Amino acid sequence: MDEQEEHPFDRANRKLCEELGATSCQFCGGMPRITGGGANYWTISCRSCNASSGLGRTDASAVEAWSRRATPSPSADLTAAREEIGRLRVALSNCMYQFLAYEQQHLAKSPPDYTKAKTNKDFAELASTALAGGAPDASDH
Ligand SMILES: [Zn+2]
Repeated sequence: MDEQEEHPFDRANRKLCEELGATSCQFCGGMPRITGGGANYWTISCRSCNASSGLGRTDASAVEAWSRRATPSPSADLTAAREEIGRLRVALSNCMYQFLAYEQQHLAKSPPDYTKAKTNKDFAELASTALAGGAPDASDH
């Protein structure tokens, strides 16, 4: 690589990788690039072949994952995906209970609003089915 033509961002990134101890790519020997920010996601990828460390919670954990991998492994990505699924399941579960609460509110009205109660009950059942891991028509197969 012609060092004089290295983009200032790439040069700063290369220095950051050096400071963090990110080594060259284990697959092709290419230079690492660190990306990310905030408190959540950092990843190191190869500038040449795009091999990736997967997502790390911190820049240090991304470097650790990058340095540790001897073979390509999706485990870091899987871990992040599982955490995201967990968050979504909690959110969906909260929605389900909220719909059930709305159903009860509509039934408690005087007179009861059966149409709105039914709509909320249907949404709650959709959420419940999704949480159970099945499509609504799974029993048809
Ligand atoms: Zn590489």
